[in-house]
Amino acid sequence: MRSEVSVDIQPSHIDQIKQTNIGLVYRLIDQYEPISRIALSKRAQLAPASITKITRELIDAHLVKETEFPELGFRGRPAIGLKIDSEGWQFLCIRINKGSLVIGLRDLSSNLVAEDEQLFSVSQNESFLDSFADKIDNFFLRHQSHLERLTAISITINAIVDPINGVIHSSPDYNVKDIPLGAFLHQRTGLPIFLQHGITAWTIAESLYGAGKHCQNLIHLVIDDHVGAGIMTAGQILHAGNHSVVEIGHIQIDPDGEPCYCGNIGCLETVVGLKPILEKARELAKSRPDSFINTIINETGTDNIESLTIDSLCLAAINGDALASEIIHGIGEKIGRIMAIIVNIFNPERILIGSPLNKAQHILYPAIQQQIAQRSLPGYSQQVDIVAAQFDNSGTLPAAASIKQALYSGELLLELMQG
Ligand SMILES: [Zn+2]
Repeated sequence: MRSEVSVDIQPSHIDQIKQTNIGLVYRLIDQYEPISRIALSKRAQLAPASITKITRELIDAHLVKETEFPELGFRGRPAIGLKIDSEGWQFLCIRINKGSLVIGLRDLSSNLVAEDEQLFSVSQNESFLDSFADKIDNFFLRHQSHLERLTAISITINAIVDPINGVIHSSPDYNVKDIPLGAFLHQRTGLPIFLQHGITAWTIAESLYGAGKHCQNLIHLVIDDHVGAGIMTAGQILHAGNHSVVEIGHIQIDPDGEPCYCGNIGCLETVVGLKPILEKARELAKSRPDSFINTIINETGTDNIESLTIDSLCLAAINGDALASEIIHGIGEKIGRIMAIIVNIFNPERILIGSPLNKAQHILYPAIQQQIAQRSLPGYSQQVDIVAAQFDNSGTLPAAASIKQALYSGELLLELMQG
């Protein structure tokens, strides 16, 4: 997860245990605050003496504080519990969009302190890094009055990235190659830098605070301009540490289909990506003059390519337009065929769908469900439920989730405690 120039040798086994335990205690306090030391000891399955020692260290570092319980403890005195001390600790979350940067300043509890979006249009590697640094400087200037103790920077981008070394290998939106963003920013700021694929970070956010909370086995399918997935198995994100996301969008669904930018033919993304869906809808509408889709297309008087959107297509389906409903049902079936295979491999408790198509989920989800029921092992398919992702494909919460994960693993905590 981390990208930082480091000469440390591999941490010893004892250090690793210490890091894991401190991360566990911090996570339990964050999730159950206010929590007493006794309750913490039970939940963490650590001896009371260890809890006392770890919480003392966290309190000394101002990462945790004591608080009085509302409920009364022994002899009617208020009980003492522990809670997260997020005051003054801040981190920067950056989302690299096509043509813009969203920069958000958050506290250690992930609450937003300040956020804004700036235009970001660069082409070559060098101007990418310089321009990126300029945007951060501008943000600091504008929000100087809010700045306290900055502890880390977390960045998400929908591109091929190396999260370990903080490198953006290539991007569909920027003409760049192997950008050492992590090392560059670490050198400038001295802070730990986190870089993660947008979908992976979004899946982590859903599992920590969203629709995937408390799930150990999760498939998070994103249907947007690009089609991809995040998979969590036994509480761990698949591929979180290497170059890839789950490239579900590049599984072939139509051998006679359209060429894909990946070099193959008829990938799922060429059929159920938002752009091909709209193209297909326009084409089908020509032979269905009764469809409301024609009314939408011709609404502005002249037919321009922006007149039909996913929102208006979903709305037509909600209002009972037969063609719009058929199109969305067909998308669900195609997705369902691929998801059935994924369900057989990962046996998830839940499938999250992150997509503007969620507006027509009453048509989309049953179509997916039906394919899964028909095509995957009954014991697996019966227990999986399909729900909408809680967050949308925007904003800096996914970047914040990467930080939270680094706190829970103990990695970032130890760093903060060493000052
Ligand atoms: Zn492809």
